[in-house]
Order: sequence, then structure tokens, then C-alpha cells
Amino acid sequence: MKNSFKKIDFGFKKININKKEKLVNNIFNSVSSKYDLMNDLSSLGIHRLWKQELINSIAPQPNQALLDIAGGTGDIAKNFIKSGGLSADILDINYKMLFYGKSNDNRLRYIVGNCEKLPIKSNAYDRVTIAFGLRNITNRQLALNEIYRVLKPGGRFICLEFSKVNDDIIKKFYDLWSFKIIPKLGRIITKNEDAYKYLVESIRVFPDQDDLSSMLVKSKFERVKYKNLSSGIVALHSGWKF
Ligand code: SAM
Repeated sequence: MKNSFKKIDFGFKKININKKEKLVNNIFNSVSSKYDLMNDLSSLGIHRLWKQELINSIAPQPNQALLDIAGGTGDIAKNFIKSGGLSADILDINYKMLFYGKSNDNRLRYIVGNCEKLPIKSNAYDRVTIAFGLRNITNRQLALNEIYRVLKPGGRFICLEFSKVNDDIIKKFYDLWSFKIIPKLGRIITKNEDAYKYLVESIRVFPDQDDLSSMLVKSKFERVKYKNLSSGIVALHSGWKF
């Protein structure tokens, strides 16, 4: 099928595949200045604990170079450096997201680019991370292939992403919070309720823990595993390149 006729999820809607990148970009353009505040409010601050779990799972070392993909305002990269990592490159397709998180720390480097075609040589990084980025990407398998390519042999990839909740009571509360409260918060804080409707819906149509693991295996990652956090509201997936 010609690419221009292929359909893809955009939240609960189906759209033409070549429209997703632009629509996602519009969303992050519109919320970038309030993105960090909205993360704190919409997750009641819990996103910080999830991100800390990701950093703990890396246990940064003074000889490790990190690439944080879809890095946005740079939480992961900054924490990696603070926790003892050598250097961190933050890549995002959206200049404004990088701009609002910009720090003058010379161990951090900012790259505007698309993770489906990384502007980076092969075998370059000890660790690659992506936090809450993968579900916004049009061709996720291509992105995973690229991540594999830029990792050094012996390097590890860690992905933090919303996933499938495995506790019925938590799911009830979580659905209520997601569909009734978060879009309203989005309207008040960013004046863009639709952006947060998309973000909430996109979580529900994202591959679950096992399907995402299979995608990592398909991109040749080895020793693929995952750990649920907060009853599977998010999951930490990881895989090695050998
Ligand atoms: N990692 C940050 C965090 O955890 O707070 C930001 C996550 S934000 C939900 C998703 C980010 O993915 C946005 O900054 C967006 O611009 C970026 N993004 C979306 N598509 C991308 C692509 N194809 N390549 C690189 N970045 C992309």
C-alpha cells in the first residue's frame, strides 16, 4: 500500500500515517512552556519517582555516555549526569521542548532530530534511554532499529513508557483521573485540552508490556525484560546490544 494511504492511531482516532509527526509536533509546540508543570500536576509528582527508577536501573558510571531520545526538557539526561554519568546527549524533534529545558552544563548536548533517522554515527553510546517518547513516534520499529544501531556493542537500552494496568481498582481510579481530570488540567494550564486528550488516549492504544518486549526482540535486542511500576501504569523495558 502506498504510504500516503496507510492509517495510524492518533489517540483514539485513525489518521493518515504521514500526518502524525506534524500533529504530534503541534501538540508539543503548544504545551512546551508548561510541559514540566503539567507533568507534575497530572501525575501528582509521581513521574519523578518513575524517572528515578529508570536512572537507578542504569546506575550511571563516570565512563558512560548517554543518549536520551525524545528527551524533551531533559529530566533524564540531567539526572543521569547528577547521578555520576559522564555525558548526556538529549535528542528531540521539537526545538521548543529542548529550549524550555536548556541547561548550561557542558556535559549536556542538545540535538534536534528525528529518532526514526538518527543524525548519529553507529556504535556511539553506552546507554540509550527514551521516557514517554515511544508512543508519540510514527514508526516505532524504525526508531528501535535506530536505537540499536547507535548503541555500542555491550550497550543497554531502557524505555520508560505508559503500559497496561494490572490491578482493577487502580485501573478504575486511573481511568477516571486520566479521562476526566487530566484534559481539564490541560485546558487550565496550557489552554490545550485536546493535547492532553491525545496524550491520555495514546496511552490506551500503545502496545502492552509483552507486545513492546516483542518489538525490542524484533530490533535484535537481547536479554529483553520489563518491570512494572505502579501496577503497570508505566513499565520499564530494557534490552542489550551484544
Ligand atoms: N522524555 C521527556 C519526559 O519524559 O518528560 C519528554 C517526553 S514527551 C511526552 C515526548 C517527546 O517526544 C516530545 O518532546 C516530542 O517532541 C518528542 N518526539 C516525538 N516524536 C519524536 C521523534 N520522531 N523523534 C524525536 N523526538 C520525538
